[in-house]
Amino acid sequence: MNGIEQNLIEILRQTGSRVTLVAVSKNHPVDAIREAYQAGQRIFGENKVQEILNKRPVLPDDIQWHLIGHLQTNKVKQIAPFISMIQSVDSLKLLKEISEQAIKNNRVIDCLLQVFIATEETKFGFSQPELSDLLKYLNQNPMIGVKIRGLMGMASFTDNQDQIRQEFHGLKSLFDELKEQFFVDQPGFNELSIGMSGDYEIAIEEGSTIIRVGTKIFGTR
Ligand SMILES: *Cc1c(COP(=O)(O)O)cnc(C)c1O
Repeated sequence: MNGIEQNLIEILRQTGSRVTLVAVSKNHPVDAIREAYQAGQRIFGENKVQEILNKRPVLPDDIQWHLIGHLQTNKVKQIAPFISMIQSVDSLKLLKEISEQAIKNNRVIDCLLQVFIATEETKFGFSQPELSDLLKYLNQNPMIGVKIRGLMGMASFTDNQDQIRQEFHGLKSLFDELKEQFFVDQPGFNELSIGMSGDYEIAIEEGSTIIRVGTKIFGTR
């Protein structure tokens, strides 16, 4: 494994300015985050609220934190004052709470709707029909504390590149469909967060705008 800085340089060389890179620092110490920060990285992703709350106070203020893991409704208020994006919105109840807490903090919080695609294990995320229902509901009942910026998804846990590509392709089609159906007049619905260490090159080819890379930057957890 190279150093964190070399890993970042290598990824940025491959991906250039085509996508936003979220450095997934879950289970890695603040020293590793500092090293990535020194190399210029500013956006970090964590999957646990408590881990963000522990790390944030000892790190630079201009880090943008993205939550990428399942979020319990009762924890929203702890991150609402500062979270840059919540990528893992997986229920209407959660979205309502994010909006309420954002309003209390005079903020509008950027959110991605997590889509359920993986064929196995993943418990979280919306199915396609659930997404349509949710967006119809939001058309009738706007929530001013949140801005829906796009979709987040994970491919199935498999080595089958064709399957991964197919799943990403399906997500991009879904994204385009929803954009046309529900967001024609909202150019801010423009983010598709797909691609991790093992599959971000395929994801970018299929239309990713945000990649979430952990292992390839920080090593194994
Ligand atoms: C851990 C995690 C990642 C990063 O995975 P790597 O394979 O280490 O790059 C990306 N997205 C989510 C939702 C994760 O939980």
